[in-house]
Amino acid sequence: MQFVDLAAQQARIKDRLDARIQAVLAHGRYIMGPEVAELEAALSEFCGARHAVTCANGTDALELSLMAVGIGQGDAVFVPSFTFASTAEVVPNTGATCWLVDVLPSTFNMDPASLERSIAEALRDGLRPAAVIPVDLFGLPADYDAICEIAAAEGMSVIADAAQSFGASYKGRPVGTIGDLTTSSFFPAKPLGCYGDGGVVLTDNDDWADLIRSLRVHGKGTQKYDNVRLGRNSRLDTLQAAILLEKLAVFADEIEARQRVAAAYSGALAEIVAVPHVPDGCRSVWAQYTVRLNDRGQRDAVRCHLKEDGIPTEVYYPKPLHQQGAFSSHRGDPEGLSVSEQLSETVLALPMHPYLSSGDQQRVIGALKSSLS
Ligand SMILES: *Cc1c(COP(=O)(O)O)cnc(C)c1O
Repeated sequence: MQFVDLAAQQARIKDRLDARIQAVLAHGRYIMGPEVAELEAALSEFCGARHAVTCANGTDALELSLMAVGIGQGDAVFVPSFTFASTAEVVPNTGATCWLVDVLPSTFNMDPASLERSIAEALRDGLRPAAVIPVDLFGLPADYDAICEIAAAEGMSVIADAAQSFGASYKGRPVGTIGDLTTSSFFPAKPLGCYGDGGVVLTDNDDWADLIRSLRVHGKGTQKYDNVRLGRNSRLDTLQAAILLEKLAVFADEIEARQRVAAAYSGALAEIVAVPHVPDGCRSVWAQYTVRLNDRGQRDAVRCHLKEDGIPTEVYYPKPLHQQGAFSSHRGDPEGLSVSEQLSETVLALPMHPYLSSGDQQRVIGALKSSLS
């Protein structure tokens, strides 16, 4: 059994992928070829954002967004502690202070009360609360109504880290249209992944979109060798765009399949473990299906038992960011980050992908039940 089965998806669309790849080899425009613009139009159409600007990966998408809104020295940027390192590591690169915020035990997403405490403390320290980066962890949108209200009161930008949630929705709004800017990743194991690295910034704002189109090609002006600002090299390869076009064509169908797997898991497991909670009006894309056990000992024992039964699991994330060496100089919620700490000890992600057979689903359910009996 695979934790994420990319081969099953490839088998389904192999002929179309091959044709797309051959078309790129035939025209030879490997950088910024026509498939890149075609993909950007398709992504924008899929989620309803006015602009989709692709780039080299999801981490760059975050950093380009911070650059676009003008984050720099003296600014505080608020990030959840329970996330992948990318979300936070881009902040110090801009000269700003990375401020780690706690999450909610029910959704694993940013706790608005912790954000408010953190903003108050940052103001006392003489920093300007400049931006917040909510993460839609495991594919579930964060509490945007509360977060956007707090951000608006402080004049802060909202940069949504949707690396795991492209295709999800929040109160009828598709991910990509909620924050000022939304970033996503096409890392192979993400819900919409390519065969290498890739990323995108989604926004309705014409100026930011233009700025990011310039920043991703060395700060180009109207022409390639006219450099009007300091930028970087962060383009999506034409081949990856070609591959993503075929994957996007089956993505809506795959999201439905993920819902069915999640519903089967939740239906069978809700009585024995804490299953993921999806708040009313939200739709997750189930990048991960993550249950919570009672404590680290039980989690590790269950994980071992499942491994012996041939069932792969993962722990996302074994250490919250505020306990990582790289973030030892972080600032954080003055009341601590205890929920992030508890979650890192108790979460367990089960196999989740659109091609997980019902037989395999039953095997996972059976093994989890027997490990807890
Ligand atoms: C994967 C991921 C990223 C970074 O994406 P890359 O394409 O690997 O750079 C950022 N944030 C979160 C929450 C992620 O899961």
